[in-house]
Amino acid sequence: MKLWLQVLIGLGLGAAAGLGLRYGLGPEQASEIVETWVKPFGDAFVRLIRMLVVPLIFTTLVAGVTAMGDPKKMGSLGGTAIGMYFITTWFAVSLGLAIGTVIKPGEGVDYSGVDASSVESIEGRLDRAAEAGGIVDRLLDIIPSNPVEALATTDVLPIIFFAIFFGIGILMAGEKGKPIGQAIESAADAMLKVTIVVMSFAPYGVFALMTWVMATQGLGVLDNLLMLALALYAACALHIIFVYGSIIKIILRLPIARFFRGIADAQAVAFSTASSSATLPVTIAVASDNLGIKKSVASSVLPLGATINMDGTAIYLGLVALFAAQAIGIEMTPTNYVMVALTASLASIGAAGIPSAGLLLAVTVLDVIGVPPEQAVLIVAFIFPFDRLLDMMRTMTNVTGDTAVATAIAKFQGELDEEVFRAKDPL
Ligand code: ASP
Repeated sequence: MKLWLQVLIGLGLGAAAGLGLRYGLGPEQASEIVETWVKPFGDAFVRLIRMLVVPLIFTTLVAGVTAMGDPKKMGSLGGTAIGMYFITTWFAVSLGLAIGTVIKPGEGVDYSGVDASSVESIEGRLDRAAEAGGIVDRLLDIIPSNPVEALATTDVLPIIFFAIFFGIGILMAGEKGKPIGQAIESAADAMLKVTIVVMSFAPYGVFALMTWVMATQGLGVLDNLLMLALALYAACALHIIFVYGSIIKIILRLPIARFFRGIADAQAVAFSTASSSATLPVTIAVASDNLGIKKSVASSVLPLGATINMDGTAIYLGLVALFAAQAIGIEMTPTNYVMVALTASLASIGAAGIPSAGLLLAVTVLDVIGVPPEQAVLIVAFIFPFDRLLDMMRTMTNVTGDTAVATAIAKFQGELDEEVFRAKDPL
């Protein structure tokens, strides 16, 4: 049986097992059992893929730059990718706002009974986020003053920055650079093989993560935030089908079913981990193995995308803004819509690819429509306990967007092996 199918089965069985435990044994007993017996397997899988992030990005990116041979090409590739990220994110946030206006997820919601421990934990996290500094500092941080430190702390943008420079150095060194260039290329090949080995555990890892999420969280989100969940799932699904579908089918003229089948592993891992950073090695592996995207593109565009391209998060931030406005009774003027769209897009770029990062940034978006800070914290704390199920969908959307853009860039640059992409799937 193909891996993607096994992973999807793991996902479905995990969800069923988790819900069965929760509603069969009750939340407390179910949580206790899964925390002790199931979660460690999920954690082991997440650690296994996170183990790959640094060596995989570094080696494949350096190898990609040297294979490309011309550093200028890297510039045009990065520029086109960033342009496409902006356009797709703009669609995403507009769609989120349109759906939120129609479905009205916040109408009649009473968030005043939110529990104090949630509020405290949100306030603590917000304080930490505020310490992260302003936009100039964030941009400066992309240049690593110590590349080893960036590697040691999995700081993706500085790693990309250094790897590109190192690749350029290898090219400039000519004959003398060849040995290290070849060594890194062979390390990159080895790392891609390690990724395949790790992925063979994915069905079990995804099963364990889904069992844990469903047993501990259940479907509480549907009792408390039904309309918000509906709006988010609908908007993400529409965005995936229409925006990414059009990129693949209409702009690139590629078979859409092959695309979705090719990335299914990455989508399932994104869905169950709720972290685009943790999913990154899987995203890179499916892009090169199943979609035929050359290493040079996969290893540069995907890590960049996992860090700054978050369409699901942008949709969500637009929705949370409307949710708050409707719950509090703030009128959404046209200016408010524009301000929300702008801040939601920027916040989605700044969001880290880790669980619930997007929700914490909602505070900045709520600020622009005039939600007082104390109320904003209450709203975020109200959603927070149920955020995981929402996060899973937006993370899956984020990762799908990264692969759609990477496919487009690869095709534009002549770096897409269409034979691999179109290969008939031996089901
Ligand atoms: N968890 C999301 C991601 O990793 C970010 C978010 O919270 O929206 O892509």
